[in-house]
Amino acid sequence: MSGTYVTHLECSITGKRYEAGMVHGLSEAGRPLLVRYDLERLAAAVSKDDIAASDAPGFWRYAPFLPVEKPENRISLGEVVTPLIPLDRSAAALGARPGKAIVKDEGRLPTGSFKARGLCLAVSMAREFGLDHLAIPTNGNAGAAMAAYARRAGIRATVLCPADTPDINIREIQLQGAAVWKVNGLINDCGKIVGDGKGPVGWFDISTLKEPYRIEGKKTMGLELAEQMGWALPDVIFYPTGGGTGLIGMWKAFAELKEMGWISGKMPRMVAVQAEGCAPIVKAWEAGDEHAPLWENAHTVAAGIRVPIAVGDFLIIRAVRESNGFAMAVSDDAIIEARDMIAREDGLLLCPEGAATAVAYRQALADGLVSPDETAVLYNCATGLKYPMPPVSAALDKNSAIDFSVFG
Ligand SMILES: *Cc1c(COP(=O)(O)O)cnc(C)c1O
Repeated sequence: MSGTYVTHLECSITGKRYEAGMVHGLSEAGRPLLVRYDLERLAAAVSKDDIAASDAPGFWRYAPFLPVEKPENRISLGEVVTPLIPLDRSAAALGARPGKAIVKDEGRLPTGSFKARGLCLAVSMAREFGLDHLAIPTNGNAGAAMAAYARRAGIRATVLCPADTPDINIREIQLQGAAVWKVNGLINDCGKIVGDGKGPVGWFDISTLKEPYRIEGKKTMGLELAEQMGWALPDVIFYPTGGGTGLIGMWKAFAELKEMGWISGKMPRMVAVQAEGCAPIVKAWEAGDEHAPLWENAHTVAAGIRVPIAVGDFLIIRAVRESNGFAMAVSDDAIIEARDMIAREDGLLLCPEGAATAVAYRQALADGLVSPDETAVLYNCATGLKYPMPPVSAALDKNSAIDFSVFG
C-alpha cells in the first residue's frame, strides 16, 4: 500500500490522467500536471487534531497532504511555520483599519524565501525518484532554495539566472553547492537553455510548474494559513505573482480543504499583484483572456516577479476569476516607497515583491475593491535583507569632541 494519499496526476488543461509513482514533467499538451489525492480517505484517516499534534518542522506537518512516500526522503533545513504579523502604524497610511491588514512573513523560511516550500518538495520527490542532476532557471530565490535542498539531498544542481540577478543571490547559490551560470537574457531565456539541455546533459528540468511537485510545496502556504486562522480564511489575499505557483497552490489547497469539509463558507478573493514593468497576467486579465503572451522588455525592482511568460498563466487567471478576485499592476516607485514606509513605521522590512502587495491593497481600498472591514493577507515572500537599501550617511569622528546635540 502506498504511504501517500495520491491517486494520480492530471493535465491541468485536458484533464488527462497520468500514473503516480513515475517521473513526470509537463503533460503531453505542454501544460502543468496537478497531483490528485483520495481526499475522502485522507479526511477519514487524518484529523485537524492530528495536524495540530504534529512535531514535524514547519510545512512538513502537512505531510499527509503531500506526495512524498518515504519519510526518509523528506528533506529538511529547519522549516518553520511563518508568522502572521498585523500591520500596526503603517496600516493607517495604507487606509486600513487596525488588525485588518496582516502580513504573512515568508522571509523566515530556509534560504529566506517561500521558494523553500516548493523546492523542498520538488527535491524530496527527486530523491524519491532517484534523480541525480537537477537544473533550474531562476531570478535568484528559486535557485538558492534548490541549491540548498539539493545539496542537503546529495543531488547535483545546475542553476541558470539572468546576468543582472542580484549578486547576493548568485553568490548564495554558488556557496550552497550548485553550479551557477549567468545568462545575458531573462528568466525565460534561461528556461529555454534548461529545456534544451535535458537531452544532451540529462538533467531534470525543475522550472516553475514544469514538474508537478513545486506547486504541492507552495500549496502548504494555503494549508498553513487556514490552520493559523483556526481553519478559516481571510476575505482577500494579495499575492505577488511571477510564475504563479503560490497563487495556484493556495487555491488548490483551499479546494482540497473544502472538499474534505475542513473549511466552509466563502473563499478568499485572490489578487494577483504584478509590477507595471512586467504585468502579463494583469494585461490578460484586463483583456478577458485566459493566456498571457510574452511581455517585452520586462523590468522591475521586484526581481522575483520579473517573469515575462508563465506556463501556468491560465491557472492563475482561473483562480483569480473563480475566487472573484482581480489582478493589479503597481509601479516600482510606489513599491520602494511602501517598503520604506512599512519598515520605518512598523519595524518590518519587506522585500519589494511583498511591498508590492501593500501598494495594491492600498489602491484596492481606495478603489472600493476591498472594504476596510475585510481582513486582507499580504504575502511577504522573501526577506528584505537580500535587496538594496538606502545608504546611511550619518557618521561620528571618535577623535574629535562629539556634538551630542545631533542626537536630540
Ligand atoms: C518567486 C517569487 C515570487 C513569485 O512567486 P510565484 O509563486 O512564482 O508567482 C514573488 N516574490 C519573490 C521574492 C519570489 O522569489
